[in-house]
Amino acid sequence: MVDKPMIQERALRSFCEKVLTTLGVPRADAQIVTDVLVVADLRGIESHGVARLGRYVTGLKKGFMKPTDQSHVVRETKATALVDGGQSLGQVVGKRGMELAIKKARDTAIGVVSVRNSNHYGIAGYYALMALEHNLIGVSMTNASALVVPTFGRTAILGTNPISLAAPAMKEKAFVLDMATSTVPRGKVEVYQRLGKPMPHGWAVDETGRSSTDPKRVLDALANRLGGGLLPLGGEGEELGGHKGYGLALMVDVLCGVLSGGATGLQLYANDERPDVGHFFMALDPSAFRPLDDFRRDMDRLARELKESPKAHGQDRIYVHGEKSFARMEKYRKEGIPLDPKVVEGLKKIGADLKVPWAS
Ligand code: NDP
Repeated sequence: MVDKPMIQERALRSFCEKVLTTLGVPRADAQIVTDVLVVADLRGIESHGVARLGRYVTGLKKGFMKPTDQSHVVRETKATALVDGGQSLGQVVGKRGMELAIKKARDTAIGVVSVRNSNHYGIAGYYALMALEHNLIGVSMTNASALVVPTFGRTAILGTNPISLAAPAMKEKAFVLDMATSTVPRGKVEVYQRLGKPMPHGWAVDETGRSSTDPKRVLDALANRLGGGLLPLGGEGEELGGHKGYGLALMVDVLCGVLSGGATGLQLYANDERPDVGHFFMALDPSAFRPLDDFRRDMDRLARELKESPKAHGQDRIYVHGEKSFARMEKYRKEGIPLDPKVVEGLKKIGADLKVPWAS
């Protein structure tokens, strides 16, 4: 195993912000994009952290991501809003969308915002977490480019469409579910390709629609649009519930795409100049249902009941979603963030191209 270089959070933030401002992103918005990326790395979600900076650099250079925020509310009620992202950076649109949902929830107990015409917004969990600061329940979803094959199908129609829900507790850590609706994200298949290892069954199908353990075959077929793709959560067919993961991915597309009037399924990224990514945000005030402290205490009780329950053979701990990420965050804030040497190499290259010195 290669030792990963440790980068201090501050230096990494400063590097990313400079890269983005050099490309015309206003400082405050560069800070938002950087925060979403660095929080992903701090939570241990390397696939959606600073490793993705290149994707935004390309988007800004090609012009399908606008450097200044063009998002605007198209239609609004006391509790809802439809936002057009104006092809702005997904993180900026996402943060403002969730802020609007939170504001509405503080006024009316619930705020729901559906967004069209945006870009890739990073980890869904970032926006759900925002609600916790206000003692609200937060929900965040986004649709994404077609990589996932519907149950009994053999071509990718839906994205890995993630779902996140965060709910505040009292002494226990908040519950923060943040997950793709596919068995694994594409990044994991790429790792197996790099290692030259066969994948487990249940991750992907080849262009014939049969389960495949060959990462290269699956990735090549996807890249050349020959068919095949990732399997929804639950895997192939109905036996282990693949149809339910397929349903969850579709649900995300309904709330992010159909509801907002944006792209769905194969329409996403169909136009290179306008990806038309959609998001869905909701903030909900538990105190509209019962006293806040009663809610938070019962969240603690439920978490403890789970964690104190008997462990499976060979296991010594049961986790609640978000717990591992909070622990990683604490550790990496103190010790620095471990980055893959290949990611560091890529970032240094971005810096060299834009004359931004590397974080040190
Ligand atoms: P993981 O499978 O790593 O984790 C999913 C959830 O399960 C997390 O909430 C995690 O909590 C929790 N978890 C992990 N292990 C356990 C356990 N043993 N017991 C209880 N809970 C556990 O996530 P994915 O690979 O599915 O997704 C990774 C990220 O990619 C997400 O942040 C997602 O939003 C993002 N994504 C973004 C897309 C986009 O287009 N923008 C598309 C697809 C995914 P914990 O955090 O504590 O580990």
